[in-house]
Amino acid sequence: MDYLPLFHRVKEKPCLVIGGGEVALRKVRTLCQAGAKVTIVAPEIKQSIVDIAEEYADLITLVQREYQEKDLKDRVLVIAATSNTQVNTTVSEQAKIRRIPVNVVDNPALCSVIFPAIVDRSPIQIAISSSGASPVLTRLLRARIESILPGKLGALAALSSRYRVKVKAMIRGENARRRFWERVLEGDVAEAMYTGNNTEGEALLLKQLEAMAAESDAQIKNAEKALGEVYLVGAGPGDPDLLTFRALRLMQQADVVLHDRLVSPQILAMVRRDAERIYVGKRAGDHAVSQKNINALLVDLAKQGRRVLRLKGGDPFIFGRGGEEIEKLADAGIRFQVVPGITAASGCASYAGIPLTHRDFSQSVQFITGHKQDNTLDLNWPSLAVENQTLVFYMSLISLPDICRQLVKHGLPAATPAALVERGTTQEQRVITGDLGNLAEKLANTVVKAPTLLIIGHVVSLQAKLAWFKEDSLKNELS
Ligand code: SAH
Repeated sequence: MDYLPLFHRVKEKPCLVIGGGEVALRKVRTLCQAGAKVTIVAPEIKQSIVDIAEEYADLITLVQREYQEKDLKDRVLVIAATSNTQVNTTVSEQAKIRRIPVNVVDNPALCSVIFPAIVDRSPIQIAISSSGASPVLTRLLRARIESILPGKLGALAALSSRYRVKVKAMIRGENARRRFWERVLEGDVAEAMYTGNNTEGEALLLKQLEAMAAESDAQIKNAEKALGEVYLVGAGPGDPDLLTFRALRLMQQADVVLHDRLVSPQILAMVRRDAERIYVGKRAGDHAVSQKNINALLVDLAKQGRRVLRLKGGDPFIFGRGGEEIEKLADAGIRFQVVPGITAASGCASYAGIPLTHRDFSQSVQFITGHKQDNTLDLNWPSLAVENQTLVFYMSLISLPDICRQLVKHGLPAATPAALVERGTTQEQRVITGDLGNLAEKLANTVVKAPTLLIIGHVVSLQAKLAWFKEDSLKNELS
């Protein structure tokens, strides 16, 4: 199947539309808007077709009779838009033999080309296709894209096109040129063009071009170095919909990204395509790149003038060592910004239907690491074994039996509800509930996949009623 970039391929070329009704009319209109020369063949021709033939008199020829094979001669594109399946099939077969691209309306099996819906900001064009699966969905997507793109985007693109060669000649170095274009396309030049003020837009562009062309080598170097910055960004617990707008914007702006295991592939796919990716992930005990090296790498990359995205699962300041990383940046005098993310406790609790606080059950919540240091779990148990509070243990799967035992030992009832949320907020989310007395046992014979979060407290009992996120129910038999 070929997706026809309609506007470029049919301009001033002879096309054939077979059919004289409303469906044909829509296709004829699209073709005429693309500048095609259209012959319409049909035994019966509706008034609306006659009207459009008048509107585009220089492009449209009407032929009132049955379709004949010779109509195909010299066409670059054929569209069968009749209600007669036999005719449509014949047209499709004959066109395919002659290797003429053919589209049969609402019958993908007979098509050799299909037309994507087009969002047209020429010279910018965006094609949307569902491969015939759902024209309505395509239309909805198109409406959405239409609404986010400035109407005069095309004017900005056309202005850029006129200056490309000149900019290349006047500004040396790929990086410097990218800096120039980013400034133009995101700054006041773009604003002027979007409001229709083309003369002002062009004048501003020229001013910036001259200023940048006059920069000395030393200035260029400094400007490039000054671009270096680190974005410490929280990517949330897994579901890409939980990213913040700022996270997404910086993800699309970064030159290089350092990520670890907690960041899902769907989220990584949203990072700028040509950004370099560096995996620095770690599992307990297995450090792919040591923290010290990560810190040094961040400093190095930023010093080269690169915009470095340090992407972290959840929130960077909650068990994320984000603080340590930017401390080193601060020491080295490197610019940075921190973008909060939804931490696992919030994400997992929401998606599992466990309110972390509740007027009747819990007036406070503690986030605790269950990660053992030197094989021991040295926590302030008396402060944890307190009624009317919610405990959220990160990195706690291995120490879960210990945690439950210690809490009971320090005074919490064994019947205190507890839940393990596995891969929270993702399609693989699973919630396993029990209490301090039996959760470890329930899990003993279960294969559990990281990451998991342990939530303890009476709020967990609300889960049965409040769970709303539909994870695969078959997997939930344990709860
Ligand atoms: N900065 C992160 C936490 C990093 S520590 C945050 O704010 O969420 C890693 C721990 O986070 C894991 O061991 C696990 O306990 C928890 N975690 C992160 N994502 C999770 C998820 N989708 N489901 C369950 N637990 C998760």
